[in-house]
Amino acid sequence: MRYSFYLEILKSFLPPGGLPKVANAILHRLKWPEHRYSLICGLNIIHRCNLSCSFCAYGGFHKQSPSYPDIDLDTFTTIINHEIFKYSFYATFGLGEPLLHDNLFQYIAMLNKRKIISCTSTNATLLEDRHKEFSFPFPNIVRVSYYKSIQDKQSNGIRLLMGSKTNATFVALTKLISKDNIEEMAETMLFSASLGIKRIWFQQFIQTRNTKVNTYPLIYDNDTEAARHIADMKKYQKSKYPDLLCAYPHPIPTSPAKCFCNVLSRGPYINSDGSVQPCCAIEADVLGGFGNIFKNQNPLVDDDGYMRLKRSFGGSKEKLFTTCKDCFFLNYM
Ligand code: SF4
Ligand code: SF4
Repeated sequence: MRYSFYLEILKSFLPPGGLPKVANAILHRLKWPEHRYSLICGLNIIHRCNLSCSFCAYGGFHKQSPSYPDIDLDTFTTIINHEIFKYSFYATFGLGEPLLHDNLFQYIAMLNKRKIISCTSTNATLLEDRHKEFSFPFPNIVRVSYYKSIQDKQSNGIRLLMGSKTNATFVALTKLISKDNIEEMAETMLFSASLGIKRIWFQQFIQTRNTKVNTYPLIYDNDTEAARHIADMKKYQKSKYPDLLCAYPHPIPTSPAKCFCNVLSRGPYINSDGSVQPCCAIEADVLGGFGNIFKNQNPLVDDDGYMRLKRSFGGSKEKLFTTCKDCFFLNYM
């Protein structure tokens, strides 16, 4: 399944329409600051959730967000027809629980028609009810955020989804790691193995102005207990679950070399009012905003805020915005 899935992804780059996508991907890879088209687009179709996790960057997800209603069909159509979306090959749904949105599967079908893979990040509480709707021949990804307290419900939904023979959906797990739950990595591997899931993203969460005060991000360097624990976990996974593919939290780089952000070099997150967020941790109204696809022709290059943020990378860490300085997406060239 894993290799055929990647083969399908490769096919989405083939003509017609494939070559400009390849050129766009190369420009992104080169960290070209003036890139006009997103590679991956975050479509914030919903800003509400049926859970209320302490580390959730947007604390009030369990309530309807007054600033961002759900993205309706007209708005969705406008967004995916916008210039910045022209050569994207991948779209993610957020920033709450996408399975709460009635139109989710209609939106996935619209993306697939354009050879765009969708990634639905979900807490899986609604998978039991909605798993049959993932009946697409085109490959899509379901990323389940694993939470110990609801693991029975999650495993039921995942089993039903993976048992369905009519879809090409690839299931992966995300486990958000903070200082408080770093010990839960081994049990996440066990949960994954019990369901036949082959991919886990152990991912640090990024603290934002809305993160609840009693949640502590995992910011560490190479010489700490956290680093040792993660090194032990890597060895444990290799010996016990050799087929499992895991991405691990990594230390915040301290090198004085030029830095860049992997997320920012891929593309924006778009809200229902057309406003743009550079990533899930920097909200649309921070620092005067980052443009709006309903107002700017292309915020990625026309908007001062977006360009300022992009150009703050490629230099030293001191020049970065505060949120970026301790962000684990930060990397060095
Ligand atoms: S399930 Fe996800 S979106 Fe919902 S509250 Fe938890 S972290 Fe936030
Ligand atoms: S480095 Fe900055 S722009 Fe990039 S993901 Fe982190 S907070 Fe967002």
